[in-house]
Amino acid sequence: MKLFLHRKDLRVDDLAAFNYLLSSSEPSLHMLILDPFLLRHSRHEAHSGKQFLQYVRRLMNLYKQYGKTIYVVYGEPEVVLEQVLHNAPIDEVIVHRDFTPYAKTRDRKLREVARARGVSFTEFVDHTLADLADFQISSGKSGPYKVYTPFYKKLNTYLQTFYRPSSPLHLGDLSTVDLAQLEGSQRLLELIQSWVPPFSLEDYMPAENPIESLDDFLTDHLPFYAARRDYYAYDGTSSLSAAINAGAISIRKVYEAVMEQEHSAAWVRQLVWRDFYLYQSIYDENFFGYEKTFDFTNLSDRHFEAWRKAETGVPIIDAAMTELNETGRMPNRLRMITAMFLTKNLLCPFTLGEQYFRYKLSDYDNTLNRGGWLWCASLGFDASPYFRIMNPVTQSITYDPSGQYLRRWLPQMAGLSDKQIHQPQAHAIVDLKQSRAAAIEVYKHILKSK
Ligand code: FAD
Repeated sequence: MKLFLHRKDLRVDDLAAFNYLLSSSEPSLHMLILDPFLLRHSRHEAHSGKQFLQYVRRLMNLYKQYGKTIYVVYGEPEVVLEQVLHNAPIDEVIVHRDFTPYAKTRDRKLREVARARGVSFTEFVDHTLADLADFQISSGKSGPYKVYTPFYKKLNTYLQTFYRPSSPLHLGDLSTVDLAQLEGSQRLLELIQSWVPPFSLEDYMPAENPIESLDDFLTDHLPFYAARRDYYAYDGTSSLSAAINAGAISIRKVYEAVMEQEHSAAWVRQLVWRDFYLYQSIYDENFFGYEKTFDFTNLSDRHFEAWRKAETGVPIIDAAMTELNETGRMPNRLRMITAMFLTKNLLCPFTLGEQYFRYKLSDYDNTLNRGGWLWCASLGFDASPYFRIMNPVTQSITYDPSGQYLRRWLPQMAGLSDKQIHQPQAHAIVDLKQSRAAAIEVYKHILKSK
């Protein structure tokens, strides 16, 4: 019997593992292990954890709708696996791969548990547009790509030849094991009943079908995406990131639906940033290597607190942080502006902001979040030879000229004129001009030592 473990693949169609399972006619046991490590620090109460658990609830409903069985348990993955292999006649474990440092360590342990019991461990890469392990893109002329545009061009050429289309197969085509019907499974069933989370899954509303968001986006926004994506007062982007990261929607199905439309290029170019960061996480050993670096000021704590609590006195920063704190959302341009403000004007280590976003973002993804923070802190892969410091006031005037977004999230400022509303308030935590000059000096040093 085969055991399939769901992880960041919370859907029931177009899964590499399902195609593989269908090549054999025997029923498979399907499980999802909620990992205490990934839910530590009460993460189930944070936007990022909540969103994930809502996709878990949706997955459970889908299994029910198809009349199939999935066991959702809570426990350390290697302990759960060891017990499952001990108590059920499993000969193969099947998973989709993940490349974060924690996932690699976890999977090494899982592989060892399986090997010790003579059980094979089969892994598929399923979460990116391209097979990032393929030599065709893993190696440019001088090693792995470090700059986005050449990578993007290569990926497009690659996809023209090697694209693996989505599969029409789904859970309905599979047969899953119901342990209650399987002789000798009493012990495993008892264990499963004891592996419950310290919170109730019933409290989480099942997430909506992301295909509906995709359809709305294609009809209402895609044609204007290139022109409007940065104008954050409009909801002009797809809002698909959380579903894509949880694997609640197939990246191939999204890509195919978009490619059928006119005006797809700008959106696909943005989507490929995701493959680019996932690619970096595999090939650049420094990607996850930077730790709490570059703490150049003893003001970090005070600055970070003000940033986190939306109390900097710089309207665009406070509005964006308010939206994040209240909803778990923040448009891409505002992520760049708030991240640069924290790491440059406020001279805080990027890891402080990275950790905060980890807790708060409903679309949180370890790799994409790190990629975004590295880029904003000028430690990542930027085609710019020097470093960028966005001026928050100029950005605010350019992308939200009438202050619509600021008025939405900072109603106390609603009465200010369109001109006044963008300006730092009297109590602003830093002077933008001085802090920019200080940041330039510090970052010259940082980049030299990089
Ligand atoms: P759309 O504009 O509709 O884009 C389509 C898809 O392309 C997105 O759903 C996403 O999958 C991908 N994408 C778009 N922009 C980027 C980008 N800059 N980098 C990588 N992929 C991209 N994205 C996350 O999914 N999780 C994170 O934890 C995350 N943290 C970030 C932290 C910082 C500091 C920054 C600057 C960016 C971060 N991003 C992160 C990238 C980006 O902000 C979000 O993907 C985007 O805002 C999601 O909104 P959307 O789905 O409407 O995107």
